Amino acid sequence: MMRSSELLDIEVIQDICKKANQADIVFLLLDYDGTLVPFAPTPAEARPDAQLLSLLKRLIDTPGIRVAIVSGRSPEDLRGLISIPGLYLVGGHGSEIIMPDGKTRSLIDKTHIPHIRRKIQEVKELAVTAASGKEGFIFEDKGSSFAIHYRLADPGHAREVIRDFTEKAEKLLAGPHPVKGDLPQAREPHQVDGRAHGVAFELLKGKKLLEVRPVGVNKGEAVRKLIELMGDPGIDPGETAGVDLIEIAGNDTGRLPHGRAGASKARPSRLPIYVGDDTTDEDAFLALKSNGIGVLVSEDARPTNAHYRLRSLDSVRELIGALASVAAGSTAGFLG
Ligand SMILES: [Mg+2]
Repeated sequence: MMRSSELLDIEVIQDICKKANQADIVFLLLDYDGTLVPFAPTPAEARPDAQLLSLLKRLIDTPGIRVAIVSGRSPEDLRGLISIPGLYLVGGHGSEIIMPDGKTRSLIDKTHIPHIRRKIQEVKELAVTAASGKEGFIFEDKGSSFAIHYRLADPGHAREVIRDFTEKAEKLLAGPHPVKGDLPQAREPHQVDGRAHGVAFELLKGKKLLEVRPVGVNKGEAVRKLIELMGDPGIDPGETAGVDLIEIAGNDTGRLPHGRAGASKARPSRLPIYVGDDTTDEDAFLALKSNGIGVLVSEDARPTNAHYRLRSLDSVRELIGALASVAAGSTAGFLG
């Protein structure tokens, strides 16, 4: 286990703020369910509270911080839940990125969308059939991906339905597509196979849910895309490609990354921080392994690609508040 897992939450927050203070711009990328809001019996009930909304507004109004919510929820769902001017929203693990100006981007090639939608409809029918006559299953059709939630189902029924569904879905999607329960390994970005039927799919286990989504549409790719999009030419004239990321030297050494001092003035240093609680967030942690900060939200220590762990959702909110304070009060760190 890495040293950071032994840190208290308050030490983690202090450590991250220290690193953030050395960057010119912080990209704060936040998962939603289980990170910003606690799980509710159904996804529709997990609504943001007033404290969260005001925290996010405060962050967005702070110069030197850009904020994104990165979720597996559908873009429409996400927009309905949380709509604050200036916020970047990533829905469906990157199937749609809604920019602060309302324009959208996607990790999916437009020409693949009809095929993806068709396959997702077929997958949905399989799920409905597999769960017919059993209660507590919620189906979420997100257009380009599909999820079965079984938080409310009898555990025995859940096992049975998921096994049956997985078997049939793998056949339908011309598998085998391994169900990923383990940590994602490093892989080439943009793995979408455009040759055969347009797209390859994968099945992914989350917290009391099973998800089918196109390969290459994941939070790791979404984070890479966001970093590119958040790099604002208005702030950094002349720089059109690439982002000058801070290198994290590794927590074990206790060394701080070189920040403002190490970066030339023409290229402001940027620190992406990703906070998430689930298996799907591991792709994002992996994407930031060497050039950002990953923060796992989990009461218990577990194998992760993240650099730090926070034990509670309250700690996540403290981190957000602390980052806003650091940025607002700093004269040497963030761009003001
Ligand atoms: Mg989550």
